[in-house]
Amino acid sequence: MHDSHIHLNLDPLCRNIPEIINNFVSKGGKHILTQSTDNIDIQETLDIAARYPDIIDVALGLHPTIFEETTILKGRTKNIYEFCNRYMDEFEKKFEKNISKVKAIGETGLDYYQFSLNQSIERAQQEELQEIQKLSFRRQIALSKKYNLPLSIHARDIQRRKDTVRDVLRILVEEGKGEVKGSFHSYTGDISFLEDILALGFYVGFNAIITYPSGENVREILKQVPLERILFETDGPFLPTQSVRKNSNIKEKFAQPADVREIMEVAAKVKDVSMEKLESVTDENYKTLFLI
Ligand SMILES: [Zn+2]
Repeated sequence: MHDSHIHLNLDPLCRNIPEIINNFVSKGGKHILTQSTDNIDIQETLDIAARYPDIIDVALGLHPTIFEETTILKGRTKNIYEFCNRYMDEFEKKFEKNISKVKAIGETGLDYYQFSLNQSIERAQQEELQEIQKLSFRRQIALSKKYNLPLSIHARDIQRRKDTVRDVLRILVEEGKGEVKGSFHSYTGDISFLEDILALGFYVGFNAIITYPSGENVREILKQVPLERILFETDGPFLPTQSVRKNSNIKEKFAQPADVREIMEVAAKVKDVSMEKLESVTDENYKTLFLI
């Protein structure tokens, strides 16, 4: 069992690392890939992983939404492009300094959804943010090629629109067709793109969304992804499983790596395959993508 996408540095996970690792190992857990999202959490992520080097692997990346978070949402409205470019330079320095400890680049990708919800971000600013996100994604793909590391990709679309995933796929083809590998984490986009994602050799990460009554579209995606391309993840502390959501005795509801067991039980039913088979194939997928 593995968790291919989580943020162990975030509350409440970071406050309970030994307990969380224990829970995971006692359910047969082997590997966790914890992901950074900005220039601040790189060190926290590395420090947590260093405590359990045989279990916790590290992905370092710049999440697409950090560019609005570090600029417009903080009141910075001038020279945004230059500021973000310097932010990317700083990321690359930190990334390269720690390269020996890195197994993947992530969380990276594009997100045209988050800023579209924010009334305070004007149309022209949204367009500028899109360009900045694309530049950042291209620069992280360049790192992926330089160091032969897989990408953990976040590609989130505005409801019923397809621009984000389309741009992610276009950029992957332009920058590195056949040269880059990785996973589309928590893919909830249009099912029509699945063929392209698989043709590019990418894996697809499934989390607790498949345990929710509302997760029918993602269960449909899961049905169409071959076992050899499936990864599991929690995206913890976000996305608690359905059993945690329903349990009124649990006050603080969050996702942790041990929850992958519940996610896999649902996946085994959807794929009509035994837990043993599902676990052995997908653990091998994790090793092939991130550890070899
Ligand atoms: Zn994430």
